[in-house]
Amino acid sequence: MNKVLRNSFYRNLILDIIKSDQCYILSIPEIQQILKNQGYSPNKTTIYREIKKLVSLGFLVEVFDLQDVVKYEFAFKKHHHHFICLKCKKIIPLKCFNENNFLEEFFQSIEKNYDISVNIDSLDLKGYCTQCKPD
Ligand SMILES: [Zn+2]
Ligand SMILES: [Zn+2]
Repeated sequence: MNKVLRNSFYRNLILDIIKSDQCYILSIPEIQQILKNQGYSPNKTTIYREIKKLVSLGFLVEVFDLQDVVKYEFAFKKHHHHFICLKCKKIIPLKCFNENNFLEEFFQSIEKNYDISVNIDSLDLKGYCTQCKPD
């Protein structure tokens, strides 16, 4: 019984951390570090298990960075693209990117001209974030 309570305690804590992070996308070591800073010390297995549970419940989705390291993002309902910083590897969700469908129109014209099917879902923008971009 104690075990169950403790697990759901971390589950809620992890969800709160990911929801409150300005980028909403964190790896397991990053989550572990934040928990540590808050004075908690769950082992990696506990964090991993709770995250898997949150993914299966539909609260989190898996996101892969440039090195294919898995990170976890709060499951936004709205479709969006990601920006990945080439230097610090931070992933930023671009939440308002699709408002005017400009990108869809652009890819539709490419699909038509080349007779190909573009997977827009897997499109990530890459570059340098505010902290990393050269002056
Ligand atoms: Zn950066
Ligand atoms: Zn996302």
